[in-house]
Amino acid sequence: MKARVLVVDDAIFMRKMISDILKASGMEVVGEAENGSDAVEKYNELKPDMVTMDIIMPEMNGIEAVKKITSRDPKAKIVMCSALGQQALVQDALAAGAEDFLIKPFNPSRVVEVIAKVLNQTVSM
Ligand SMILES: [Mg+2]
Repeated sequence: MKARVLVVDDAIFMRKMISDILKASGMEVVGEAENGSDAVEKYNELKPDMVTMDIIMPEMNGIEAVKKITSRDPKAKIVMCSALGQQALVQDALAAGAEDFLIKPFNPSRVVEVIAKVLNQTVSM
């Protein structure tokens, strides 16, 4: 079965880039969210297998969104998408319950590798 992924980022070009990589590797992008509160709402509504979560976003950042999602669903699988120089924030996100992280700019094969690992799946690109 195709993995169902929710893509969260405040930048539309970034959401599109991540979605394209996921689709090319055979996953299904079930939804997109542009801030943390939108992400929490869509997570509860769509119940995706996995979330890619930006860190810096308006309204509610990615770390707060991870806390809210994992408090309700401790098994949520969330991969943080961070820019270089945000290591401290990545640590906070991992402490809050995120499983792993990716550093922008993305290397598509690295994206697929991390996501497959988090999902415990074998995927190829
Ligand atoms: Mg951002």
